[in-house]
Amino acid sequence: MQYKRLGRTNLKISEIAYGGLALYYVERDEAIRLLNTAIDLGINYVDCDEAGAQFVAAKVYEDTRSKLGEVLKTRRNEVYVGIKCMFAKKDEVARDIDKALEYVFKGTGREVIDLFHIAHVDVQEKLDLLLSPQGGMAAVAEAKEQGKLSHTLVASHNPTVLLAALKTDLFDVAEFPFTVIEAEYKKEVIPYCHAHDIGTLIMKPIGGGQMASCADLSLRWIRQQPVDVVIPGMKTMEELTGNIEAYVNGGPLAPEELERLERTARVLGSEYCHRCGYCLPCPMNIHVISQIDIYRSRLVDLGRKKELYKMARERGAGVAADCVACGQCVEKCPFKLNVPELMKKIAAELDG
Ligand code: SF4
Ligand code: SF4
Repeated sequence: MQYKRLGRTNLKISEIAYGGLALYYVERDEAIRLLNTAIDLGINYVDCDEAGAQFVAAKVYEDTRSKLGEVLKTRRNEVYVGIKCMFAKKDEVARDIDKALEYVFKGTGREVIDLFHIAHVDVQEKLDLLLSPQGGMAAVAEAKEQGKLSHTLVASHNPTVLLAALKTDLFDVAEFPFTVIEAEYKKEVIPYCHAHDIGTLIMKPIGGGQMASCADLSLRWIRQQPVDVVIPGMKTMEELTGNIEAYVNGGPLAPEELERLERTARVLGSEYCHRCGYCLPCPMNIHVISQIDIYRSRLVDLGRKKELYKMARERGAGVAADCVACGQCVEKCPFKLNVPELMKKIAAELDG
């Protein structure tokens, strides 16, 4: 295991770290066992993620408190923690910072957020709000001054908005999805990070499950790229040890392996959602990205997928079955994804 300097944070982070989303779907004792094993195997960074619960102020960090929070009580000095915030207004961001300190770090001996994430900065409007006088970056600056957090991170699925966020010089680390299919970050984002000593953290290295059939190849491809740390989500002990083995010891891809990965990418290309959000809003209020995410997730079984689909409907959001095939999203999608066709497939599997 190598330890990479994460840009200007100067933190030395294990080249493969823990994407926390998977832990949200794992029962508490097993999540604690996975985290302890990961640390034993040399992982020294956990990137927290609580799926949909993070959008609900009252629920946020509860799951993290019961799992990672427990581990930190005895192992705080062995691991750095990234805390994710979905909100953009100053009071909301300040509330999340204080709640994370209370729920996750209190009593651990080192009560500070190592890396505070402003997440899902996928549209310019959210970035504008964050930067406004009543926006979240004001809360981040105050918290940093008060010693509540050490470093800042911006996470995005949209390279244009991400680059704009990085140019504010308010972020020490950039987090983005990066695979052989989503290699567009190589053009401007990665060179900009290198030029400005910004760390790079790779989320969704297996395409959020979309590339599960060639997970090991995707990880080994990323290791040959000029990025710092990769954070796959790992739900089982086999995934944890298998991913570490592939990433650390797998070595560069042989020509036939690269060909297999690229072939998979070509096949997926017409259906692969980059989660960039250019297609939104939808006139039927369908959050296209989350519908595709639920459908493609490898973290939950069909029953749970159906539940999540139903929950979206109960929240008043549109679901795949509401798609009227107006084609507005296809026009706006830079990858010309056939969203109406995908919505039809999703509805057939998850509706009812
Ligand atoms: S459907 Fe297209 S525009 Fe919408 S999030 Fe996916 S890739 Fe981006
Ligand atoms: S085609 Fe369906 S998903 Fe796309 S914008 Fe129209 S209603 Fe929404």
